[in-house]
Amino acid sequence: MAGSFKKSMAMICCAKQLPDNPGPAQRKERSQSQKEKMVSSKSDDAIAGLTKLLSEKGGLDDVAAAKIKRLTDELDSANSKPTYIGGTSDIDPDYRIRSGFLRFKTEKYERNPSLFNELAKGQSPKFLVFSCSDSRVCPSHVLGFQPGEAFSVRNIANMVPPYDKTRYSGAGAAIEYAVLHLKVENIVVIGHSCCGGIKGLMSIPDDGSTATDFIEDWVKICNPARNKVKAELKSADFAVQCENCEKEAVNVSLGNLLTYPFVREAVMKNTLALKGAHYDFVKGCFELWNLEFTFSPSIGA
Ligand SMILES: [Zn+2]
Repeated sequence: MAGSFKKSMAMICCAKQLPDNPGPAQRKERSQSQKEKMVSSKSDDAIAGLTKLLSEKGGLDDVAAAKIKRLTDELDSANSKPTYIGGTSDIDPDYRIRSGFLRFKTEKYERNPSLFNELAKGQSPKFLVFSCSDSRVCPSHVLGFQPGEAFSVRNIANMVPPYDKTRYSGAGAAIEYAVLHLKVENIVVIGHSCCGGIKGLMSIPDDGSTATDFIEDWVKICNPARNKVKAELKSADFAVQCENCEKEAVNVSLGNLLTYPFVREAVMKNTLALKGAHYDFVKGCFELWNLEFTFSPSIGA
């Protein structure tokens, strides 16, 4: 999770007829409309190119020709309803989503029929992964997890809340399902560099007052990490404090996992391992550590 906690409002505007003497807002819309046409024009070129190839298919075998025909139809369909409804991005979101899926389908789905046939029957991932919602730290990209490999939970600052059936039922349900039903063998909590959620935690005033509806209350889950860093690295730069807190917060989350009875039981039986990690995308490195637990024999045993 990156960025500050400033609240902002997104503006959504709809396409409408533009006046002859446009003001700044209309000029922006007109420019947007031109960009829209450019995107559409690129797609039209692609479709025209594929159609030409198809009409000259001479040397193409039937399978390749059929594939090109299908891609042409799908591209045409993806492009048939321009639904550019607002925003400042140059990319038509619907086109981005549809073309992204087409790429996945042709490059991954259709090339791995055995994998996807197997996944149609069920999943048995070995990992439950907690990672931040930050757009830069997707674990499937960073660690190359393939479909079916990792059951995932993503939230602000990759935090595992303590067992609480009322406040944190979402996280609890995911952990319960992964441990009791999927029987994952590892839970990995991955922190990361430049985490906005951790910066937010470290920025909460000492009196605990908050200015957001949800964010600060959520990241306070890792208050013990904040307090430890503030005490041990009192004179360090804020950036250094945050980096240390990113890792300490992972350890608090690992400790919180043990508040779930079914996690504790699986760890004690050695059927489940708890791992902490930190991905630094500035330096391009990844740290992984195991949290070792020692259980005292119960008194009187
Ligand atoms: Zn983050």
